[in-house]
Amino acid sequence: MLKGKTALVTGSTSGIGLGIAIALAKQGAAIILNGFGDVDGAKAQLDGLGVRYGYHPADLSSAGQIEEMMAWARAEFGGVDILVNNAGIQYVAPVDEFPVDKWNAILAINLSAVFHTTRLALPGMKAKNWGRIINIASVHGLVASKNKAAYVAAKHGVVGFTKTTALELAQTGITSNALCPGWVLTPLVQQQIDARIAKGESPDAARDSLLGEKQPSGAFVTPEQLGSLTCFLCSDAAEQVRGAAWNMDGGWVAQ
Ligand code: NAD
Repeated sequence: MLKGKTALVTGSTSGIGLGIAIALAKQGAAIILNGFGDVDGAKAQLDGLGVRYGYHPADLSSAGQIEEMMAWARAEFGGVDILVNNAGIQYVAPVDEFPVDKWNAILAINLSAVFHTTRLALPGMKAKNWGRIINIASVHGLVASKNKAAYVAAKHGVVGFTKTTALELAQTGITSNALCPGWVLTPLVQQQIDARIAKGESPDAARDSLLGEKQPSGAFVTPEQLGSLTCFLCSDAAEQVRGAAWNMDGGWVAQ
């Protein structure tokens, strides 16, 4: 389905981003990986899928490094047809105790990076009159939780940015949509389970209490499920899905 397209998935060395990169590769897209940590492990998961892939180490808190990554994508892959803005970090503290450096980092990586990759990908997409921009927001782009001021502000910002971009592109072959996952069991969420374990809960109780507070299904969303939804949004059938904030959340925001 996606043969001949190139997908850049930011933050694709782990978790949701890696799941989406694998799903897009299975549909034939060439993949540009990005992120920190186990880069070789991520590459190994793409081996054998029969697609070309590359890796760029840009730190998405830096506009300059994003510019370098996008120039590299143009030179090496002829541009980015599918842009999945997925990289994100979390920090949990009350507003009046929230460290200023954490606020700045979350806004830079979770929100401003989405602006920079989008503005730099758009000229190439417009030249081809085809593109898919898929921003991994969160249920926290739609509703709030305590102690996550920076994350909630950034994710609401991503949803707003997605809508504006979709309107500006409405009469082109380029769509822009946001995915709003509920809990997905990735390193980002494991940290929050670990914090509960540190306060004395057993691992099972910590997992159950985390899910039970917010996610009516009582089950985690999976990176594979988000990968499938991403592939749908890349398909011709999704051509008129524009500016959506699509929750996949076990019922979280239905409450
Ligand atoms: P994760 O920690 O497993 O992966 C985050 C990825 O981002 C990693 O590849 C990491 O290396 C990369 N990254 C972090 N800082 C970076 C930086 N400065 N520059 C480049 N890459 C950087 O987390 P995840 O749970 O897979 O989260 C992926 C996205 O999904 C995030 O935007 C997150 O907010 C969102 N999300 C996660 C959940 C969840 O329950 N896990 C729910 C809703 C939304």
